[in-house]
Amino acid sequence: MEHRTGTAASEAARYVSAPDVPTDNAAAASASASAAAATTPPASAATAATAPTAGAASGFGALARVSPGALAAAYADLCAGAWPGPEQLPLVYHPNYNISFFGIEKLHPFDAGKFAKVVKALKRDGVVLGDAQLVTPREATPEMLSDVHTADYLHRIHNHNFTVVQVTELAALAMLPNKLLQWRVVAPMRMHVGGTMLALGLALERGWAVNIGGGMHHASADRGMGWCPFDDIMLGVRRARRAVAAAAEAAEAAEAGAGAGVAQGEGASAPAAGPQSGGEAAAEAAAAEAAAAGDGAGAGGLKVLVIDLDAHQGNGVERDKLALGDGQLYILDMYNAGVFPRDDEAKAGIDIRVELKSGTEDDVYLNRLRAALERAALVLPRPDLVVYNAGTDVLAGDPLGRLGVSHAGVVERDELVWRWCRDVARAPIAMLLSGGYAKDSAAVITASLTNLINKFDLKS
Ligand SMILES: [Zn+2]
Repeated sequence: MEHRTGTAASEAARYVSAPDVPTDNAAAASASASAAAATTPPASAATAATAPTAGAASGFGALARVSPGALAAAYADLCAGAWPGPEQLPLVYHPNYNISFFGIEKLHPFDAGKFAKVVKALKRDGVVLGDAQLVTPREATPEMLSDVHTADYLHRIHNHNFTVVQVTELAALAMLPNKLLQWRVVAPMRMHVGGTMLALGLALERGWAVNIGGGMHHASADRGMGWCPFDDIMLGVRRARRAVAAAAEAAEAAEAGAGAGVAQGEGASAPAAGPQSGGEAAAEAAAAEAAAAGDGAGAGGLKVLVIDLDAHQGNGVERDKLALGDGQLYILDMYNAGVFPRDDEAKAGIDIRVELKSGTEDDVYLNRLRAALERAALVLPRPDLVVYNAGTDVLAGDPLGRLGVSHAGVVERDELVWRWCRDVARAPIAMLLSGGYAKDSAAVITASLTNLINKFDLKS
């Protein structure tokens, strides 16, 4: 497929600053002054990175973009139970995330059972009280996937073993009946996509959310690779934009109903369980339909910043951003330039690019990250949502990431990004786990999530 380099590429050209030149901030900031000024004053954003933030200590709840329950209708097809209430944490997980059968999954260094290990450990440590506190997603349907992926690719991934082998790099899978492959490999991956889509919606409503899975940043419209069959990030962003637009429309419709003396109070924001007027019910149905529809991709116009700290370049999302001409999606990508996928063409989709060398350790890694975040505050518009692709394949010893970050370094990295979202970007954050292939990946993820939940008081 050809990738257009229209709007998104020229947007990128406006905001991009050379990855290894530390003195380009001022020039880049002035080049994009009009865009930045329209959203947040660059100077105050920059100083907020280090200064104490009076008034910001209220936490992530204050960053929510919509009222509680406002997106329930728009995400009803992706949420397995009732829309989560305040007693639930916006931690999205389904047991089907884990791929295992006949030991074939062990042929790939990917620990396809790490998600279950993380959830088990969070429960063991009392961070999560039980399954009832988690949010259960539904599988993304082929129709949902077609919002980004081509019909030809979706046909191949759902019918041809060869395509599944290309994506998973497991030649042994070619021998298996396609039905079995669909059930044990492709369907779980669609579940990850559903989880990411739902997590983005929850983040807009709660100020934060984590998909304990997802982050398939190598997949693009017509191609899967590197264990990533679907571009869950772009799919999630597009759904989030439509959901917010649909919720706003529903709220307006409900308000009109209230004007006629029918509905009261929160209007379309009322929980689905409450008594509804005919007007509200119709508005919610319309919202659900509008949110699920594949057209109107730019609806809502949410500005989204993807912070991709997986050890690998997030080439799939970058390619889709370019192909779709998405001028409202910004990407900060920090990765090991010496490993897969080395996708030069996709680099045009990166707004802030930080290329690392194999073996990069904590000090350099965290300093480069701090500098990149400072630059993001200066040169990118203030985002409405941050999607944080938090791959743990940066860990020392990871066979595919080949960086040298320690356990403590990963925990510090995640805290740094969350703090930046809360205090500088003032944007809700949706975190995805993405890659992580070392044996200790699950333990590090658990430690980091525990640290985030405690440090930012996310349970209150
Ligand atoms: Zn990776």
